[in-house]
Amino acid sequence: MTATKTELIQRLLTPGPTAVPAAVLREMALPIIHHRTKAFEAVFAEVGQRLARVMKTAGPVLSIAGSGTTAFEAAQVSLARPGSKVMAVAGGKFGERWQDIFDQYAPALNLKPVKLDVPWGEAVSPEALEAFLGEHGDVDLIALVHSETSTATACDLKAIVEVVRRKAPEALLIVDGITSVGAMPVDMDGWGIDVLVTGSQKALMLPPGLGFVGLGPRALDRLKQFKAGPSYNLDLRRWLKSHAQNTVPFTPPVSLIRGQRVALEMIESEGLEQVWARTRMLADASRAAMDALGLTLCSKSPSDSVTGIFYPQGADDKKFRNRMRDEFGIHLAGGQDGRGASWSGKIFRISHMGFVTIEDTVAAIEAAETVLREMCPDLPGKPGDAVAAARAILDRA
Ligand SMILES: *Cc1c(COP(=O)(O)O)cnc(C)c1O
Repeated sequence: MTATKTELIQRLLTPGPTAVPAAVLREMALPIIHHRTKAFEAVFAEVGQRLARVMKTAGPVLSIAGSGTTAFEAAQVSLARPGSKVMAVAGGKFGERWQDIFDQYAPALNLKPVKLDVPWGEAVSPEALEAFLGEHGDVDLIALVHSETSTATACDLKAIVEVVRRKAPEALLIVDGITSVGAMPVDMDGWGIDVLVTGSQKALMLPPGLGFVGLGPRALDRLKQFKAGPSYNLDLRRWLKSHAQNTVPFTPPVSLIRGQRVALEMIESEGLEQVWARTRMLADASRAAMDALGLTLCSKSPSDSVTGIFYPQGADDKKFRNRMRDEFGIHLAGGQDGRGASWSGKIFRISHMGFVTIEDTVAAIEAAETVLREMCPDLPGKPGDAVAAARAILDRA
């Protein structure tokens, strides 16, 4: 008997959604409990406490039904002071989205949005931010991305926060940690991040459907300074009030919240630092493998959550990713298009976040090497070099 396609082990290595462990899937299959009960409140409280430990904050972490964008937009619209100057930094698709959201609310809230753009594939440098804030020290709210998934790029967030504090002391900083929280070092309170946002379907090993907003003391204070703007569901004041009673204002996705409790338990029992180290190692191994194939990373400041690679001459994005999926069960992401660049068809991305093992990563590298060498016979080295380069790093673990 020959193996059929459905018998292939499927490895979801896209940078969101990501694979969900069986224990989490089983928990989510339990019968629904009503959300206005002590039983739900206990689960919800535990999720909040575990999220706070994963974000490294003493402040509340709100769980909002929706995707990462819902949670981020809620932070933007709830904290933008009417009539103020707001700023978003972009070097990829997601930073551009936060710029668009400020633009969208600008008429209703009389905002004055300013934008700092960096080339795709580069991280905003503390120096560039410092120069920009030299001109815009009156900015009141700043949005920026820690790990820009569309370009597989991470910034030096700790240094960035320090610049913001010094050059724009009144400004609040909202950080998109959607692919950094639970994947790489982030210390919300230690680094002084005012607002940290993440989502369920990236490093937190859950299906899509929840967004999380961690709130530091300055953000909590600002929420009291003025009333909600044009949004009802996205007003964090409403979510915060319920959170104090271990619940949410509207019917929550109960199964997801139960699943999130188990996924966070898994993260904490592996150990947060160990999770960061594993993610880092898988990223290092993937970068070494691509280097052995003579390929170029699309980032000058690569994130550990996801590796993005420019295709070599002769490789076709659709054919490559279809073969990876259909013959090897490996699901990769392509590139995205935005204002700063058009990378669809030009790059592919492999995720290292969440429920990803050494075996998953080696399988992806081995298959990618096989398919790319077939498509591009001029690649340097010999078959197996990419896997060997990855193994050299993984075997040290
Ligand atoms: C996935 C992602 C988002 C958007 O999250 P959704 O859940 O798709 O709304 C935002 N920022 C980054 C960095 C992401 O990776």
